[in-house]
Amino acid sequence: MTNPNSLTVAEARRLLCEHLAPVSGWEVMPIRRALDRVLYRDIIAPFDVPAHTNSAMDGYAVRAADLSADQEVRLTVVGRALAGNPFSGTVGATQAVRIMTGAVLPHGADTVVVQERVRLADDGGSVLVPPGQQAGQNVRRAGEDLACGKPALKAGQRLGPSQLGLIASLGIGEVAVRRRLRVAFFSTGDEIASLNRPLGPGEVYDSNRYTIFGMLTRLGVELIDMGVVRDDPQALESALRDASLQADVILTSGGVSVGEADYVRELMARLGDVRFWKLDIKPGRPMASGRIGNAWLFGLPGNPVAVMVTFYQIVVDALLRLMGCDPLPEQPLFRVACVSDIDKSPRRREFPRGILFTENGEWKVRLAGNQGSGILSSMSNANCFIVLPESGKDVKSGDFVEVQPFEGIM
Ligand code: AMP
Ligand code: MG
Repeated sequence: MTNPNSLTVAEARRLLCEHLAPVSGWEVMPIRRALDRVLYRDIIAPFDVPAHTNSAMDGYAVRAADLSADQEVRLTVVGRALAGNPFSGTVGATQAVRIMTGAVLPHGADTVVVQERVRLADDGGSVLVPPGQQAGQNVRRAGEDLACGKPALKAGQRLGPSQLGLIASLGIGEVAVRRRLRVAFFSTGDEIASLNRPLGPGEVYDSNRYTIFGMLTRLGVELIDMGVVRDDPQALESALRDASLQADVILTSGGVSVGEADYVRELMARLGDVRFWKLDIKPGRPMASGRIGNAWLFGLPGNPVAVMVTFYQIVVDALLRLMGCDPLPEQPLFRVACVSDIDKSPRRREFPRGILFTENGEWKVRLAGNQGSGILSSMSNANCFIVLPESGKDVKSGDFVEVQPFEGIM
């Protein structure tokens, strides 16, 4: 049994994804517009890629059988093969064809000798090939990239630059992608002020809605920005209802900590089936998750750094799952020496913000300033999370730690 008052990051991530199925619905679009979208169906290669066996280098197409392991051989040059302009004949015994990169390998030839390795003979019509060539060298085989009839890309794959190129290499100009996930988000709290007006006493500007905007935009979801909602039962109820009618996901920040004298928890619990968690994570203890109407609800903590940490460490997996990504990509961690001392809370997985830097050619990490859960400046100066596992001890300068670079997750 899991304890909602002491949930590890891994458990929270698992529980969050447990009942999620990708949104239904898909659309067909030109491949350029499909960047960052999730493939809806497998893409089957309609032909071999490359379609023809061709040369990987500029040089001479030859027959391996004519070459010698220990002596130079003389071959007669009988023609040229250029990319897009093949040699139509056959390479016979002791013959060679001048060939350029990408040109179809002529009939009879099976090997390419790079031009730098070859001497032109005085007769002008033949070449001298030194010993030591490998049969089949410098040749790209038909189908070595993608085999005809096999899936070139699987449904559930997110389309990045290399996938767009791969689809294009199959001559396919349009793809079916899953419809975009619709995410409604708002900030909660009486002290939270929207931009473009002066701050009243005790107020803070709403920064969470901007970090959330940035994180969601990079994920490629459809945004429904619902602004700041007062800590007022009616306003919260209508915001939650409204969001649940329009969106697949409701993402809120603030108001979910235990024992708080506000209405966010109360309304979430009343309007839907919502669980409140205390996570073994730092920063970012409280979190809510569940369902309101047909929408999934993820209630993030209020503190600005906690918002980002819980989003990237827990919620992003669930959003990717809903977007149709399968299987979920695992984020790599790297071990580097830490040059800062870090106090570690027992039993919590901590994500201090760090700066990766090089010293004498080695990557190291140091703390990026004040680690308070509301301190966005250290988040902004950082380029990685330092990942301290639940069982980890205090870190002393010189210890090795694991880091998760922002580049790649943000
Ligand atoms: P809460 O969980 O609602 O008690 O919020 C925790 C802390 O985060 C408080 O100091 C809030 O003022 C702050 N906070 C909550 N929402 C936001 C927001 N949208 N922008 C900036 N700070 C916030
Ligand atoms: Mg609040």
